[in-house]
Amino acid sequence: MSKPPVTLGSTLTCPACGYAEAMTMPTDACQWFHECASCKTLLTPKPGDCCVFCSYGTVPCPPIQLGGSCCG
Ligand SMILES: [Zn+2]
Repeated sequence: MSKPPVTLGSTLTCPACGYAEAMTMPTDACQWFHECASCKTLLTPKPGDCCVFCSYGTVPCPPIQLGGSCCG
């Protein structure tokens, strides 16, 4: 009855300036947008990805880690 472990820490790397920011992912929702703390570029998911963590993070988002798809 135990769930597989999920990594909530992910480091987002800005594609515009390369700034890496350690983030904690929400478990109950996907995060579509993230504003780079360095250059203020608004990151959005790449085509086919569900959230910015899947596109730019070191770890995919929790729903993906659990083997499902998230928001579709
Ligand atoms: Zn940036």
